[in-house]
Amino acid sequence: MHKIEDNLTQVKRVIQQAAERASRNPNEITLLAVSKKQSAQTITKAYNAGQRSFGENYVQEAIDKKNALQHLDICWHFIGPIQSNKTKVIAENFSWVHSIDREKIAQRLNDQRPVNLPPINVCIQVNIDREATKSGVFLEDVSALVACIHKMPRLSLRGLMAIPEPGDEASQHESFRKMKNLLDDINEKAVNTNQPLDTLSMGMSADLTIALAEGSTLVRVGTQIFGKRD
Ligand SMILES: *Cc1c(COP(=O)(O)O)cnc(C)c1O
Repeated sequence: MHKIEDNLTQVKRVIQQAAERASRNPNEITLLAVSKKQSAQTITKAYNAGQRSFGENYVQEAIDKKNALQHLDICWHFIGPIQSNKTKVIAENFSWVHSIDREKIAQRLNDQRPVNLPPINVCIQVNIDREATKSGVFLEDVSALVACIHKMPRLSLRGLMAIPEPGDEASQHESFRKMKNLLDDINEKAVNTNQPLDTLSMGMSADLTIALAEGSTLVRVGTQIFGKRD
């Protein structure tokens, strides 16, 4: 069975084609394999096919798999909602966190990041379509949170993340485009001392080509790699 390997090849082909259509360099696009609810064994199959970045949503499940896979050179990303009693474990175990949605969480991750590890790479999650059921900050509150995080030495602010509302293609294009404009705005206004934000974490199995057309630099793909979750 080479299914996962074939799926990875196919997803990479889709990314390559979307990048070419947008006149973008495909090497600047990161494929994050979203492995929530997948076993350590399944993750190993993707790893053996060359995949190195994996995204997880549930803290305890992620730590169990990370411990089982310590011998592998995996870059672990946390992409799920964050409760404040989980920040310490996240700060100790992940290289990236995509789902920062308030100052309190950012501050705790900063304070709890172990000194022997480099700063955690973080993205601010934006609730781009203002959905009541979704986490993330509203567009107008992003720049205040950016300013806060820039003052936290143990966090490296890399960019923005969003999950648009399900809808027709036109509305998804528009949501992703708003994100790209927001990132460009932040970078234009940034004082020279701050590193420019280089990451737009957007696009999942169902909408990755649309996200890439609008400037995504990192797509978070589960189903198209591992199949349907139960
Ligand atoms: C589950 C999940 C994904 C992957 O979704 P698929 O549709 O399976 O590709 C991406 N991002 C986040 C935040 C998720 O929770």
